[in-house]
Amino acid sequence: MAEVAIFPQLEIPDTIAAGPGPGNTDARVLKRFASAGMADHMQADVLRGMIESKLMLREVMGTKNVHTFGVAGTGWSGLDCLFSAVMPGDKVVVFANGTFSGIDGLTLRMKAATAEELAANPMDPQPASVQIVAVPHGQSVTAETIEAALAEHKPKWAAMAHWETGSGRINDLRGFSDACERHGVMGLIDAVSSLGVEDFRIDDYPGVAGWASCPQKGICCLPLTYAPVSFTDRYIDNLRKTGCRTFVHHPILEARHWGIIDGRDVEKGTYHRTHSAYAVAAFHEALRITLQQTVAGRARAYAFHEAALRDAVEAMGCKVTSNMTSLVVLNLPEKLAGREAELVQACRAAGFGIWPTLSEPVQVRIGILNLLNQNAITDIVTRFAAAMRKMGADIDMGRVNDRLEQHYQTMVAAE
Ligand SMILES: *Cc1c(COP(=O)(O)O)cnc(C)c1O
Repeated sequence: MAEVAIFPQLEIPDTIAAGPGPGNTDARVLKRFASAGMADHMQADVLRGMIESKLMLREVMGTKNVHTFGVAGTGWSGLDCLFSAVMPGDKVVVFANGTFSGIDGLTLRMKAATAEELAANPMDPQPASVQIVAVPHGQSVTAETIEAALAEHKPKWAAMAHWETGSGRINDLRGFSDACERHGVMGLIDAVSSLGVEDFRIDDYPGVAGWASCPQKGICCLPLTYAPVSFTDRYIDNLRKTGCRTFVHHPILEARHWGIIDGRDVEKGTYHRTHSAYAVAAFHEALRITLQQTVAGRARAYAFHEAALRDAVEAMGCKVTSNMTSLVVLNLPEKLAGREAELVQACRAAGFGIWPTLSEPVQVRIGILNLLNQNAITDIVTRFAAAMRKMGADIDMGRVNDRLEQHYQTMVAAE
């Protein structure tokens, strides 16, 4: 028998998460994660932590929706729960303007496909009941586009990414919600990138029936802890009538462990699946941080620091095409055009975790999740400039630093 290799202990270095996500897990979150004791998923403090997290999450999301809780996993886990009520043959309109809304579209095509449609193309079904409205990379989904599509197709469901992280574009949530209301459509929003970064309250968007986010972007928790979701009573009433084909991600069943039973808060959750004390402790702390800093305060900080980063990379000759405040998506100067992947690779190899776009066209993405201070932004700018210069770019570092310095002095002056 061949000998089984036991590999050396796995060491993973600390890198700067300067991409679209995951973000830099807050040190307070890591501390709670590592300090949680061994306790099972029905232990009193774990259950209490889940109830408290549920209540804090409602505050963070700005909602009175009783069905507001965390789905174990990452963004796609929350989105799978969100899309679970979509049944084969349901009419759906999906607005896609980049990588992630594209995958939302694929998920919805899988869920809405009839058995025959799924068998005809199992990995990429093309159900007749789903319309994908494609908006070019680099552009936002506008109210006009949404209105036209919903008026034409009159679907049961419509789905859109609030912030499309693939291209760094903000889509028109107000336009989406209003159009859903006008046409009696249940809106589903992928808020994976916007929750905890933009200042918005989901209850201000009554056309949206369900929301899903992720742990590790704006909420600054660890991946594989909890993806926030929230459902209106309308969504839940519909689900009660149709049912859905999942146990684990069933919004009504999954809510039970968070102490939501028969549409009401109860004192103590009941078993749905095994939860972990460390994940609950981490999520709980991440929500406390968000509420202490306030959603509005964090949103202001993101806008301010993104403007500093944007200004600095523009001073280096890059062209920014995004409008999100947690991320800049840019084209390199003419001289380096076509070498985006090479530049990103060189940065990543040095522990500076920036990203390329994941679908065409190839651009560079630099994110600032939980990097909201002058030192962190200056470090990003310095590293990025050094990498560009190594590839032959002419950068006037004096000018770049002056712009950064100026930007941060205005903040000091404003305080
Ligand atoms: C990151 C992201 C996802 C996927 O989330 P995971 O945490 O990787 O599962 C989905 N949608 C959007 C808009 C995202 O930014």
